Amino acid sequence: LEFCQALPKIELHAHLNGSIRNSTIRELAASKGDAVGLAREDILKITEDGDRNLAECFRLFDLIHKVTTEHTTVTRITREVLQDFADDNVIYIEIRTTPKDNAKFGITKQSYLDSVLAGMEGYIHKGEGSKMMARLILSIDRRETTEQALATVKLAAAYKTKGVVGIDLSGNPSIGEWATFVPALRKAQQQGLKVTLHAGEVTNSTEIKSMLEMQPDRLGHVCTFTDDELESARDIPIELCPTSNLRTESVKSYGTHHFGKIYGRGMPVVLCTDDSGVFNTTLSKEYAIVADAFSMDEEAMLQLASKAVDYIFDASPNVRTVLKGKFSAAWMRWN
Ligand code: IMP
Repeated sequence: LEFCQALPKIELHAHLNGSIRNSTIRELAASKGDAVGLAREDILKITEDGDRNLAECFRLFDLIHKVTTEHTTVTRITREVLQDFADDNVIYIEIRTTPKDNAKFGITKQSYLDSVLAGMEGYIHKGEGSKMMARLILSIDRRETTEQALATVKLAAAYKTKGVVGIDLSGNPSIGEWATFVPALRKAQQQGLKVTLHAGEVTNSTEIKSMLEMQPDRLGHVCTFTDDELESARDIPIELCPTSNLRTESVKSYGTHHFGKIYGRGMPVVLCTDDSGVFNTTLSKEYAIVADAFSMDEEAMLQLASKAVDYIFDASPNVRTVLKGKFSAAWMRWN
């Protein structure tokens, strides 16, 4: 773990509200009191440290969304989440979040986005200084309508110069029809936004086929992909989140995680946390888990971490040059 902590790392699949510190959730829940609509014991149980299964995760997401209904809170959690990744030696992160309309609290998709960006201040530079660089991906939730999805894409396009680099499709994988999201995802591609899709979290070969036809820029999870489906996705960088997959019971053990197959085939792959708060993990831990499960040495881990530079959504050559420079320095130190 020590080596993985010291390793410079790139995080490309982290949900903002899944990455909140447990202590912050507890503090916010306590300060909201009855407004959350849950008894104190229930809140303590939901936020209890330790392993969580899928149902417990979604209960926690619901609680998180109930306690993050103020613009200042959204800014605060963004700042804390970025600080935690920076402390874990992450040098570049693409954080993702679903812009939410919440009329009751005076929040619109745009004001939510502005609050997130306020928390990212200081991180959206192009490599000047030593601070971690951060970019934003806007998520479409599978519960949303075509109009809501289109509104998110419109916002993303308008904020391209302010740090937004792409669009993600996520949310409960058992909900929603692919056709609902196609107009927005196509629009995103036309607008020059990069697209990443949560794919194959549950078995759905028809949807996977359509997703691959769209030629996304990255894919997340791909747990249920067959060998043929993986072959069709051969050139698409894949975001893998081992602990998340294990907790949500998409894989049975770290040793049998599909990382082995994907890495073994020489396909482009990047390790990620998904929801570091909810799953009680860090990117260093994910690297250490994979090193251990697949007997990979330090050189292989450094190689794996370095390759992620090629899969980032920010198109600026300067950003890539800076990141490659940081990995070169890491190679020199290691040698
Ligand atoms: P937010 O978009 O910042 O509110 O982050 C939390 C949201 O991310 C959840 O409500 C889900 O929509 C999405 N999310 C987090 N983890 C997963 C996952 O493993 N699969 C699908 N969606 C997820």
